[in-house]
Amino acid sequence: MTLPPVPESFSWTESPAGLVLTCRPLDAVTPHLFTTRQLQLTADDWRRVAGLLGARQAVTLNQVHGRDVVVVRAGAPPPVGQPTGDVLVSDDPAAAIAVRAADCAPLLLADTRSGAAAAVHAGWRGTAAGAAAAAVDALRQHFGAAPGNLIVAIGPSIGACCYEVGSDVVDAFAAAGHPRHLVDRWFVVRNARLYLDVAGANRDQLVLAGVPDAQIHDCRLCTAMHLDVLTSYRAERERAGRMAGAIRARA
Ligand SMILES: [Zn+2]
Repeated sequence: MTLPPVPESFSWTESPAGLVLTCRPLDAVTPHLFTTRQLQLTADDWRRVAGLLGARQAVTLNQVHGRDVVVVRAGAPPPVGQPTGDVLVSDDPAAAIAVRAADCAPLLLADTRSGAAAAVHAGWRGTAAGAAAAAVDALRQHFGAAPGNLIVAIGPSIGACCYEVGSDVVDAFAAAGHPRHLVDRWFVVRNARLYLDVAGANRDQLVLAGVPDAQIHDCRLCTAMHLDVLTSYRAERERAGRMAGAIRARA
């Protein structure tokens, strides 16, 4: 299998959880990974992911395409079951916090000072709702993380090359209060069709929230174009699996 090329800041690795993608600058802060279609995300797989990150267990969410935050704290009992939300923040090295996606953007964040971490599930609704900024706010509020010290990895998501949307999606972004000049940048018009750049919109929102652009790393992999390695709901519908973005706070 030929692996899709990724920027210098990312690398592919064969692991006990199958082929995984990691971001070098984020790896310098704390363990994390993005899984690929090889991993089904069974209960055993989640244990494997937690083990790979040096955590005791994985914490996942009942994702609803919003911006609600679930906080995981060292020394406190981890959440029971799957709490509802699309953002996890944590200072607990024993917990691998993880989101699942198949086209939506998985974002992983870590604070170079405190070692606190966040995982975000951001499809178009979550991006319109400002889920990435909610993660930055929560890291500051709960763990004292300054946005200027955050490192972010944007995992595989459907690209502006493939993600055709209707005008209702533009309207939702405008209604959510995003500046018009940014909304215009996030939606690309080609042959009278409209495409959304989910990763680009999240990058802009992170920069607006105070994260330096140079500390935001996008793997630039379109899920719909690499179905041998990745999985895409748009391209595969009910047959699509899910991929995980997982990270743990630094010990
Ligand atoms: Zn594409």
